[in-house]
Amino acid sequence: MEFRKITVAGTPFEMGFAFGEACKEEISALLSELLSDKPNEKLQKTMCFRTLYERYFPDMLEEARGIAEALEVPFSHGLLLQTRWDLNLAPADECTSFACASSATKSGRIFAGMNKDVTEKAREAMILLHMKPASGPRKLLIAYPGSMAGPGMNEYGVCFFGNSLYGGRIRNNSIPQPMMMRLILEQCTAAAAKNRLVSVHRDGHIGFNGNATVCDAQGDMYCIEMFGDQIAVVAPNPEDGFLVHANNLISKVPSMLEIETPSMSGNTIGRTNRMTELFRKQHGCLDEDSLKEVLRDHEGLPFAICRHNGCYPGRQPSFTCMSCVAMPAEGCIWFCKGNPCENPYFLHSV
Ligand SMILES: [Zn+2]
Repeated sequence: MEFRKITVAGTPFEMGFAFGEACKEEISALLSELLSDKPNEKLQKTMCFRTLYERYFPDMLEEARGIAEALEVPFSHGLLLQTRWDLNLAPADECTSFACASSATKSGRIFAGMNKDVTEKAREAMILLHMKPASGPRKLLIAYPGSMAGPGMNEYGVCFFGNSLYGGRIRNNSIPQPMMMRLILEQCTAAAAKNRLVSVHRDGHIGFNGNATVCDAQGDMYCIEMFGDQIAVVAPNPEDGFLVHANNLISKVPSMLEIETPSMSGNTIGRTNRMTELFRKQHGCLDEDSLKEVLRDHEGLPFAICRHNGCYPGRQPSFTCMSCVAMPAEGCIWFCKGNPCENPYFLHSV
């Protein structure tokens, strides 16, 4: 089992068009599903994001226009594919992400990665997308049909891996989550990515709940917790030299902890603690093989780091559907489709 890989190149419009052509069938099916009820209301809401794209990332509007033209549908349909998470039309992920600086690893190498836990349906939709733009950095990321954003890395070794967070005060007039991912993957360093998010948040235009684990080829790394109207940046504790993040807050800012939804943090704290324990045990010897072993860990099943059929009340069961270990200085990522205890990793270069 391996991810389907799509390579796109050229201007933003050309890349969008090529992506639309390559996954026409899946996008058509997704659009039919999304527009099966209240289509006008959804499309109206999606068009409200347009001014934020114009302000922060007009290239993504061109990509959406390319996708829409390939599908021969109106532009607003192309934009809906980018904003469905922000209109609550897509499920949230339960993930475990990490970044390891040279002090924590064997031979001083740098690593980052994650297990992405979603539904089986979402796993089948995931695509490995290789973007080679006419201007801007090359990118390798895990995308969904119609949306050219997701966890991955750019040619400078800047990585984005993320986690959902639960309970913050959602703020209106927020950039869509895929735009946040791409804002990170357009930067040359982790510090520049962090500064970009902090500045958009200061403008009042990040309003969702989520964590971004960012890292670069020099080993600079941060967890950026965006919690509606609040934001916190966490750097590694110098003794550890690594960052671990599941779906609970790690910044320990009292005003954020106060509004975190505790019912969601029970099993996630188990994953945070287990990965931290395994990293500390192997401190100074972590390498790509031992990191893959950590990502296969089953303590706390079904809500383990390698999740099998974890089910919250009222939600669909979720599984580890994508597992990856990135090597930012080497410019490549090991990707595994499905649970890493049952499936192989394949190496891909940015
Ligand atoms: Zn497993």
